[in-house]
Amino acid sequence: MIYDLPSNFYDTLDQKYHVAVENDDIKFNGGSAISKLEQQKIGDSTFNYQITLLSSLMHRPEKGSKETNPFEKPEKELTILDSFGPDDEFKVVFNKFPVVPRHFMMITREFKSQDTPLSPSELIGTYTLLNRVKNDSKENWFAFYNSGPQSGASQPHKHVQFMTLPDGFKAYGEQLAQTSAPFIPNQKNEPLQNKDLPFAHFAAPLPPNELDLQHEDLTMYFVSLLQRCLTVLKQNGAKDISYSFIMTTDYMMLVPRSNGVYKNTIGVNSCGYVGLFLCKNEETQSLVNSDGPFKILESCGFPNTAGEPVDEYHY
Ligand code: AMP
Ligand code: AMP
Repeated sequence: MIYDLPSNFYDTLDQKYHVAVENDDIKFNGGSAISKLEQQKIGDSTFNYQITLLSSLMHRPEKGSKETNPFEKPEKELTILDSFGPDDEFKVVFNKFPVVPRHFMMITREFKSQDTPLSPSELIGTYTLLNRVKNDSKENWFAFYNSGPQSGASQPHKHVQFMTLPDGFKAYGEQLAQTSAPFIPNQKNEPLQNKDLPFAHFAAPLPPNELDLQHEDLTMYFVSLLQRCLTVLKQNGAKDISYSFIMTTDYMMLVPRSNGVYKNTIGVNSCGYVGLFLCKNEETQSLVNSDGPFKILESCGFPNTAGEPVDEYHY
């Protein structure tokens, strides 16, 4: 089958990761991190978030370009699978500058723009990898895709990332997905949006059993959520299409984005909309504490639209 993964995929991931850190091919940034898990009650909901302060951040390129593109020829030491998916469309490689161990990415073999929507094969590849690492590790994995100029992405070559959540942490999309039966993607059904979160977001629970999900349907889920994002972007006069995408084997969530950086100080990518904030110095950390994570998420997204009627001007 074209999406088959080697049976020892997770063990290889784990072993290669340790070797690459040992040999300094991966620059692990989390060793000196101080993380604080906190909770906030808003309306009828209680949300968790984590603020991570990095006391040292190793040289990560701030902005890549098509010319200086690390994913054109990924380092051998960082490559987990040299080919994956139909027509060897993808490679699976480590993030060179992780904050969380084993952070990896599915990248396209040929250059494709990070501004393009996820294709059917990219969605199936993502789901297949998520299923495997979940089943083989017992860790709490999620995938994310930062798309568009305001999404907080730093590399223009298409990459979907995979990371684990802290123990006991509940992402906002997961919390929401657990309140409802699986979504049936069609014009009549509205995706889920928690009225207590200040920012617009659209979530769709997936069937709990892998066997109940037709892989082709992942595209329908994605497109239904993207449509809602496009409506919010249009209503707010956004100049470009930017969104955060978050997925586990249980749900998919999209968040339309207005800004990749808050007050020119803290970068906010999809990890922020999972509830994870990364501060590179104490000044940034005090800003997150003083303004509050949810104000930051609202400001980098758009106002919540829960309960607003759908009209003929909606996509
Ligand atoms: P994003 O910022 O969401 O576009 O993600 C790009 C990721 O690529 C960042 O998290 C970087 O840590 C990572 N990265 C940058 N350079 C390299 C490289 N040479 N090899 C692997 N990963 C890299
Ligand atoms: P950034 O500089 O904000 O793009 O983030 C640096 C690296 O850490 C990227 O690989 C991100 O994907 C990842 N990252 C971002 N936020 C967090 C977070 N709160 N916890 C762990 N990793 C994160």
